[in-house]
Amino acid sequence: MTDIPVQRAVALVDDAAVERNCRRLVGELAEGGSLCAVVKANGYGHGAAECARAALAGGAERLAVAAAAEAAELRRHLPDARILTMGALTEPELDAALAAASDVAVWHPRFAELIAERGAELGVRPRLHVKYDTGMGRLGERDPDAVLSLLDRVGADDRVELAGVWTHFATADELDSRFFGEQLDRFAAVAERVRADHPGVLVHAANSAATLRDPDSHFDLVRCGIAIYGLDPFHADPFERRLEPALELRSYVADVKRFPAGTSAGYGRRWRAPADTWVGVLPIGYGDGVRRALTNNAETLVAGARYPLVGTVSMDNLTIDLGAGTRVESGSPAVLIGAQGDERILCEEVARRLETITYEVTCGISARVPRVHVRSEGP
Ligand SMILES: *Cc1c(COP(=O)(O)O)cnc(C)c1O
Repeated sequence: MTDIPVQRAVALVDDAAVERNCRRLVGELAEGGSLCAVVKANGYGHGAAECARAALAGGAERLAVAAAAEAAELRRHLPDARILTMGALTEPELDAALAAASDVAVWHPRFAELIAERGAELGVRPRLHVKYDTGMGRLGERDPDAVLSLLDRVGADDRVELAGVWTHFATADELDSRFFGEQLDRFAAVAERVRADHPGVLVHAANSAATLRDPDSHFDLVRCGIAIYGLDPFHADPFERRLEPALELRSYVADVKRFPAGTSAGYGRRWRAPADTWVGVLPIGYGDGVRRALTNNAETLVAGARYPLVGTVSMDNLTIDLGAGTRVESGSPAVLIGAQGDERILCEEVARRLETITYEVTCGISARVPRVHVRSEGP
């Protein structure tokens, strides 16, 4: 990526990588299949509007968010995009979603009625996606007969448009899971009925992991989030699946200090120099989303080499051990997630150290960190 002057901490987001990741996912789909780019939670921390635009340029035909406020924000930037709000909605949130011309999710007949009433009141014809809970155990109707009767009911109501039927997988990222197949079978049975009784209704199920593992899960539309940002849905190296990580988290070495043996770094003195060394101070901390659990448990890149994070991560600063004979000078760029020279620190590595998933790492980069959008040439 381009070398831009560093601020104390910055998240560099390569919109061209998002675009290429989307094109790569679209290439995975059979004729007639289309991609819905999931840009909820500020595009998994990458910046929703910019990533949405990049995704559309990369061949995505739709966008999905979780919350009505996210749909409204996206609509301000993209007047013509097709947007689906996937989450549960309170009544005022429903109004906001409809005002943003977003499709909405439904699984209770009484909510379908409310949507129809609110649509009539607002002078719009809401587009509904009936949600079938095939095993996620979260939002959606679990009884397939109830799903089919809700589909009939919505389909017969002129005040609304039956736009879709959908489900969500609980274990698509676990390659040895039988449960994925069970959910897929349940959904496929309903999908077959829908194709016969409600032609033209969008059938959709797959997230990124399902999209990459099983074409049978693609139906009319796949809803990909993590993969469009170039992160691997199976928690391995994204490059192996030709995905390009779009985000780099950067800071810089604000100071380099001599640490005689025994000198401690940070709150609680949780690290002491075992021998004389030099310590670099990076002005980035948990207030920026670098989690405190990375204390004595991470590496950073400076001048193309890995250096261990030592001592307690504080709100605004952290410290790294540069070693006894360091040539690193203050002002040097530092990378917490991303590449420098021949070295790289994958978001997957940070997630593994935190015993979490990449989703939580990028979502956790706080609003204090400016997102700087760039466009790379690509591999
Ligand atoms: C977040 C979400 C997705 C996208 O999942 P990824 O694993 O990021 O691809 C798809 N569908 C629903 C319902 C979601 O909530």
